[in-house]
Parts: sequence; C-alpha cells; structure tokens
Amino acid sequence: MKLAYNCKFCGNPGTVDYEHPGQLTEPQVTNWLKYVACDSCAEFQRASRDATRQLLTLAGNWSNVIKYSPKQSNDIREETKSAIERVLRKLCNAIEKKTHWGGLFQPHYVDQIIERPTQAMSVVKTLFKPTT
Ligand SMILES: [Zn+2]
Repeated sequence: MKLAYNCKFCGNPGTVDYEHPGQLTEPQVTNWLKYVACDSCAEFQRASRDATRQLLTLAGNWSNVIKYSPKQSNDIREETKSAIERVLRKLCNAIEKKTHWGGLFQPHYVDQIIERPTQAMSVVKTLFKPTT
C-alpha cells in the first residue's frame, strides 16, 4: 500500500510503501507520516551527521593531544590536519550537493580547528549558514 507524504525536511511530496496495513491506527499512521523524509534529504542528513561526528571526534582527540601530550603534538599535527581536511571536504560536498551552494570549503577552517579544536562545532555551524 502506498501512502502520500510530504518530506519532513523539504516539504516535497512523495509516496512511501506501507507494508502492514491495519497494524497501526489511522492517527498513528498520520503521525508516522510526519516523520518521513525523501531520499535526497535522508541521504543528506546521514552524510552530514556522519561527517560532523567524525570531525568532532578528530577535534576532540586533537584537543586531548594538545592538553595531555603537548610534546607529541608536532608529530601528530600534520596527520590530524589532513584527516580534518578530508572530513571537512566530505561535509562541504554533502552540503553543496544538497543546497547547490558552491565553494564552501576554505583551508582556514582546518587551521581554525587545529588552533582551537574545542570550537570545531562553530566551524560546522558556519558551513550550514555561509552568508551569516
Ligand atoms: Zn526532502
């Protein structure tokens, strides 16, 4: 059975297979349909969430290196920097694919996170609102 829905993120209409008619009451089905996302939005949510988590993990680990093993930080710095750049590019690509914005990745974001890893989330927020 196919049910019509509007994506909870973009509002675009779509249809979704409902495989067990009668298992939920009609109000439950109506409520469930409020949480359905289209493939494009679902893919974007997953990609941006995964990249953000990876980035925050890298920044957190780097923060600990600076704090607890400052003598080793020079060895680890370049490795961390390239890992952060790779994940940041992944996040930028996901956002650009979804929004059609361009040129989101800026090398100084990587430096910003390396210098102040506890501020990594503010870089992520900047990416989602590049004009502000
Ligand atoms: Zn959508």
